[in-house]
Amino acid sequence: MSTIEELLRAREGPMTSELVLRPGDFGLGRVPARLKPVATTTAVCGFCSTGCGLKIHLNEAGEAINLTADPEHPVNLGMACPKGWEALTPLAAKDRATTPLLRNPATGELEPVSWGVALGAMVRNFRGIQEKHGRAAVSFLSTGQIVTEEMALLGALAKFGMGMRHVDSNTRQCMATSHVAYKQSFGFDAPPFTYQDFEDSDALIFIGANPCIAHPIMWQRVMRNRRKPEIVVIDPRRTETAMAATLHVASRPKSDLVLLYGLAKALIDRGAVKREFVAAHTSGFAEFEAFVVEFTLERTAAETGLAVKTIERLAEIVATKERVSFWWTMGVNQSHEATRTAQAIINLALMTGNIGRPGTGANSITGQCNAMGSRLFGNATSLIGGYDFGKEEHREHVARILGVDAAAIPDAAGLAYDQILEAVERGEIRGLWVIATNTAHSWINQRTFAALRAKLDFLVVQDMYATTETARMADLVLPAAGWGEKDGVLINSERRLGVVKKVARAPGQALSDFAIFKLVAEAWGCGEMFRAWKSPEAAFQILKELSRGQPCDFSGIRDYAHIEAEGGIQWPWPEEKAEGLKGAARHRRLFEDGRFFTADGRARFFFDRPRPLPEPPDAEYPLLLLTGRGSSAQWHTGSRTDKSAVLRKLAPRELYVEINPRDAARWRVAAGERVRVRSRRGSCEALAFVTPTVQVGQVFLPMHFADVNKLTFPVFDPHSRQPGYKAAAVRIERLS
Ligand code: SF4
Repeated sequence: MSTIEELLRAREGPMTSELVLRPGDFGLGRVPARLKPVATTTAVCGFCSTGCGLKIHLNEAGEAINLTADPEHPVNLGMACPKGWEALTPLAAKDRATTPLLRNPATGELEPVSWGVALGAMVRNFRGIQEKHGRAAVSFLSTGQIVTEEMALLGALAKFGMGMRHVDSNTRQCMATSHVAYKQSFGFDAPPFTYQDFEDSDALIFIGANPCIAHPIMWQRVMRNRRKPEIVVIDPRRTETAMAATLHVASRPKSDLVLLYGLAKALIDRGAVKREFVAAHTSGFAEFEAFVVEFTLERTAAETGLAVKTIERLAEIVATKERVSFWWTMGVNQSHEATRTAQAIINLALMTGNIGRPGTGANSITGQCNAMGSRLFGNATSLIGGYDFGKEEHREHVARILGVDAAAIPDAAGLAYDQILEAVERGEIRGLWVIATNTAHSWINQRTFAALRAKLDFLVVQDMYATTETARMADLVLPAAGWGEKDGVLINSERRLGVVKKVARAPGQALSDFAIFKLVAEAWGCGEMFRAWKSPEAAFQILKELSRGQPCDFSGIRDYAHIEAEGGIQWPWPEEKAEGLKGAARHRRLFEDGRFFTADGRARFFFDRPRPLPEPPDAEYPLLLLTGRGSSAQWHTGSRTDKSAVLRKLAPRELYVEINPRDAARWRVAAGERVRVRSRRGSCEALAFVTPTVQVGQVFLPMHFADVNKLTFPVFDPHSRQPGYKAAAVRIERLS
């Protein structure tokens, strides 16, 4: 199906989800037929990477009328956080984009147009830019929020069909560090764990992670642990998780790399290294052991601000517990030295033999619902399917499966997100297609993007809402269906594939991202290249072939129904082993045989000298700004969660700044007073929340408010190019 008319007609057809018939009466008495659930189907949640299973209750037309958490699902066991319970609400928001909008040059306003006009304008402008400035002058910035089939189609269309060279997604903002760290250390981007490890650990070490707020269902899994575990939180803030921990290690912001090297040295001194495991399954430990010699307890204490006895206690926990698991997320990933910090965690797991066994692992908790799908199939950093752009045999293999000319596949990854924006600044990239992300709000030092807008000849934004900060800047808005309005697969933090389904009709003329990409391919003139991508499920079969033989091999999964029947399936699930894996689907971890995905099967130790804070506090800007998630009811820039009255009630509506009582006294700020927070790049107003949960000399702002990224300092990890949102020098000013 490829014409606009066919696609729009198809939207009126039946829901694509299979109805699982249940007794019609849900005990609701007399209710209008349209509101009476007569059937239930399942889908995984489309907000965060936890991947909770939901039961979606349908009326006779197969449309969702409400949902409940799925008690049978192995991820969430009947639980869901507020966002999951409210997952259907944002679909009904009044500001949904319902028709393509094109900016009228005469009035400067975005005006409704037909799909034909919209696609014509997109192709004409992007082709015009390419003819004048080269094919690489058009890029896209995409997302970790759309389904894997859509990510793959977009990546293939843009690079192989439209000739784009530099493409990226907002996965760069959350998971690029884990991607690079795992790839270098394990030989493939392979989070090793299963959520069962939360329940099976004797010690859980959380580094820069606040699962109570950011991943609440994962935290519930920790709460189910019956082994009386030690729970350690390494975080400058006394977060909700730190309050619930058995040990809070409140190190100085961005001193975690020193702490982890100091911990490695302390473990070596205690004789806690599993020498046999290290010798059999790793390489580079001798060099690492020599490197960490200088990270004495005294130096580590001095540079982290911790007491020696706190570091010793931490070392004792790691050294003496049988099953130790290490968990990290954005506090590590968003840093100027993020990749080496993530690898310092991996090093600890390797040297203590805490990998491949129940309750262990160097475990990166993912952010978005499909960041893992984006990492494997986005076609940005890695060639689609987790292959390497630089290897000719990989390019030829992918070309053969996709039926494209190998010469159309670039021989190197393109520019990263920040570098794409720099190329816009230099005038080298003139056309940009932004899909399901809100760059104007979420990008670090957001003023950059607002200024760059003027340098773009044509900006296309494809989104559920025409009201995001980025959509309002667009020349063209393409209205997209959201979660619940389309089919496909998401891959969660523990590598589990889960199915999402069309249980609601997208409003007006909005189409699934998959359908939009197909239309763009036709309009561009490369539709023939994607004939086999007939539907998301047909695309899934192509992705299976791409995965075959890779560490992420899921060629043994038959179809969506198979995934659903198993309650999700973790990769790998290769066809030749599928029979033997039957019944093992609920929980599987990697590396149980001690073999990693490197050429020699050994995991590698990576390390580098720690580097100072890029923008330390000084006399003019004496406070250090930390940012993070504010509540479990808010998701990123709020484009969906702000649409729910329930979620709005569960989260502060005004920006607030957490400030320590001693700093509040020093700057004469009263609790609840409105203050200005200023960095060298911008300022914002916020209510003062005076609290000892932040240390003296530090303040905290929640990331969900648009003003926060006016302040953040644009620094990037050199290996992953992930932005360091977590440390910028600021000052507080009273407004009166
Ligand atoms: Fe959805 Fe994540 Fe909440 Fe689960 S924890 S319901 S996946 S937002």
